[in-house]
Parts: sequence; C-alpha cells; structure tokens
Amino acid sequence: MRQCDRCGFLIFQHNAPCSRCAEEMRLAREALVPRRKPSVWRKVIKWLLVCLVVAVLAAAAVITWFLNTAGESFRSLG
Ligand SMILES: [Zn+2]
Repeated sequence: MRQCDRCGFLIFQHNAPCSRCAEEMRLAREALVPRRKPSVWRKVIKWLLVCLVVAVLAAAAVITWFLNTAGESFRSLG
C-alpha cells in the first residue's frame, strides 16, 4: 500500500496507477475538448439577438415619433 504523489490518495497495489488521478485527467480532457467553439458561437449569437431586439425597438420608437410629428405638422398646416 502506498500514497499517490499528486493527490495523496491511497493505492492498494504497489505499481498500479492512481485511479483518482486517472479519473481527474479523463474529466479534464472531456471538459476541454468539446466545449470551446460552441460557447463562443452561442455568445456571439446571443449578442446578435440582443442587438437585433434593440435595433427593432429603436426603429419602432423612431417610426412612432416620426409619424406623430408628421401628423402634428400636417394638422397644423391644414
Ligand atoms: Zn492520485
């Protein structure tokens, strides 16, 4: 019986690899590989959607304001 040099986990067979370190390495590799690109794209798409919504709201506000002022100036003219 010995202790793992890296995590201090007890290993019962003397020349067996540490199962805890092996599991940690496997989890770290799984976490690194698939995640990189989709998160960036999701962030970009989210910001694009937010910008689109803001632009639509601003356009609606400008159109409403324009119609109001145009209607008022027509009314004052005629
Ligand atoms: Zn270990």
